[in-house]
Amino acid sequence: MLEKARNKIAVNLQCPSQGIYFSSSATEAANILIHGRLSYLKTIGSKKNKILISSLEHSCVYNTTQYYKKNGYEVLNIPCDRNGIIDLNFLRKYVSTDTAIVCVMGVNNEIGTIQDINNIGQIIKENSPDCFFICDVVQQIGKIPYKIDCQYVDSFFFSGHKIGGPKGIGAFYVNDNFRLLPKYFGGGHEKNYRSGTVNVEGACLLSGALELAQLNIKENLSFIDSLNKSLLKLLVKNNIRFKKIIPNKYSSPYICSIAIEQISSKYLQKRLSEKDVCVARHSACLNRTKKQSRIINAIKLDKDSAESMIRLSYSIENTVDEIHDFVNILSQIISEKTSRNGSKKQH
Ligand code: PLP
Repeated sequence: MLEKARNKIAVNLQCPSQGIYFSSSATEAANILIHGRLSYLKTIGSKKNKILISSLEHSCVYNTTQYYKKNGYEVLNIPCDRNGIIDLNFLRKYVSTDTAIVCVMGVNNEIGTIQDINNIGQIIKENSPDCFFICDVVQQIGKIPYKIDCQYVDSFFFSGHKIGGPKGIGAFYVNDNFRLLPKYFGGGHEKNYRSGTVNVEGACLLSGALELAQLNIKENLSFIDSLNKSLLKLLVKNNIRFKKIIPNKYSSPYICSIAIEQISSKYLQKRLSEKDVCVARHSACLNRTKKQSRIINAIKLDKDSAESMIRLSYSIENTVDEIHDFVNILSQIISEKTSRNGSKKQH
C-alpha cells in the first residue's frame, strides 16, 4: 500500500517514484532536507557555507535556516518586488560555487504570489550545478497547474491537509544525485531519511487526495477564480474601499489578501469571527506571535495597508452564497464602525 501511494504521487507529479518519501508534515520535510544536505556537506569537508532563501519563505524554512545563520553560515534573503516576485538578478549575482542551498517557495501562503520555480532552478544550475535547490510547494500542488521540472528542482515538499488529505502527513521529493544525511537515527525507514514507523493510512490518504486534486485541478481553479472575482466585484458594488495586496495576475486565486481602508485587521478579524467568518490577519503560524509579518516587510507594504490587511483563503467547498454572506457581514461591520465613529465626533 505504501509503495502504491508513493507511485501514485510520482505519477501525479511526474517525477521518479524512488525520489518520493513520506514525513509527518511539510515542516518536518523542510528540516530533513535542509539539515540533511548541510550535514552531508559538512562530513565531506565541503567549504560551501552560503544559503539563499526567498524573503517570503514559510517559517519552516526561515527558522531552520536561521539556526544555521547562528552557527556560522551566511544566510542571504533574496529580495522581492512589491508583488512578491523574487529578484532573479540577485540570484544570478549571488548563487556561486560556495552556495550550499537555495530555497524558494512555489506559492506564498500569506499573499499568494506565484514564482516560476523551474526558471529559478535553471538560473541556479547555470551558476552552480551542485547547489541544492529546495521548493516549498505546499500551496501549489493540486491547486495551480504547473509541471515541476526535476531537472532544475532538486527537491520539493508538501503537506496532506492543504489538498484535502489528513493532518499529520507530508511528503517530499529528492533527486538521488544529491546525498543527504539522516536527521533522525533509527530503523532506517524511508531509505534512512525518516526513521520511524511510516503512517501508511496517512500516505494512502495523501496520495488519494493528491490524485483527486490533480484530476480536477483546472475545474477547481476556475471555480476558485470565479469565487475570488465575484468577491472583488461585490466589494466594489457595496462601496467597500479596499486594496488587493497582490494583483490577480501574480497570485494564486486560492489566497486573497486585501486591506479594508481605515479598519484595523485586528478589529475586523474579531468582529468577523463573532459572525463565524474566519479570516487570517497573516499566516496562522504567525498569529501566535506579536511580530510584524516578514512577508509584509519583504513586499514593503505601506503601514496603513499592513495594519488593515486580512487574508481570505478559499476551499473548493466554499460557495457563491458564502461570498455574498461575507460581503454583507463585512458591509454591516463597516457601517456600524463608521456610524459609531461619526457619533463619537458629535459629542
Ligand atoms: N509551507 C507553507 C507554504 C504552508 O502554508 C504551510 C502550512 O501552513 C507549511 C509550509 C507547513 O506545513 P505543515 O503544517 O504540514 O508543517
